[in-house]
Amino acid sequence: MTQHDTAEAAREFLERTGLEPTLNRILVLSAVAAGQRPMTAAEVHARILREHRINRVTVYRILDLLAEKGAVNRFSTNERVQHYCVGSNHSHFHCTGCGRVQCIANEKLHFDETAVANALNLAVSHVDLHLEGLCPACARAAG
Ligand SMILES: [Zn+2]
Ligand SMILES: [Zn+2]
Repeated sequence: MTQHDTAEAAREFLERTGLEPTLNRILVLSAVAAGQRPMTAAEVHARILREHRINRVTVYRILDLLAEKGAVNRFSTNERVQHYCVGSNHSHFHCTGCGRVQCIANEKLHFDETAVANALNLAVSHVDLHLEGLCPACARAAG
């Protein structure tokens, strides 16, 4: 799934995934897809609340369902907070200063899937590296 921010794209994606495209599911998936970085369930809820009424438990339940169906990525940082984002085969950077997480295209890591697959003798089909450190703002503050 590529980044998108339209309800129509979310509806089509849900149908392809075999999920009934209910309004709440469309709202949740659109909110995650529109995010500039991975969001926590609380952040997804807050984003939807700007324009729609939706209950927190509903958002959490739908996020779980979407993650189980592979419609969104779900991963946790070492703070045990679940984050959600869209897009396949990419890695994540977690800033240990401010706690923010961002998606990193594997191409930016000069990552060679074939070389790793050969080295490990494993048929690697998906790579999601977990990177940790300080974002530029936190690195400046740490001086
Ligand atoms: Zn930071
Ligand atoms: Zn991501």
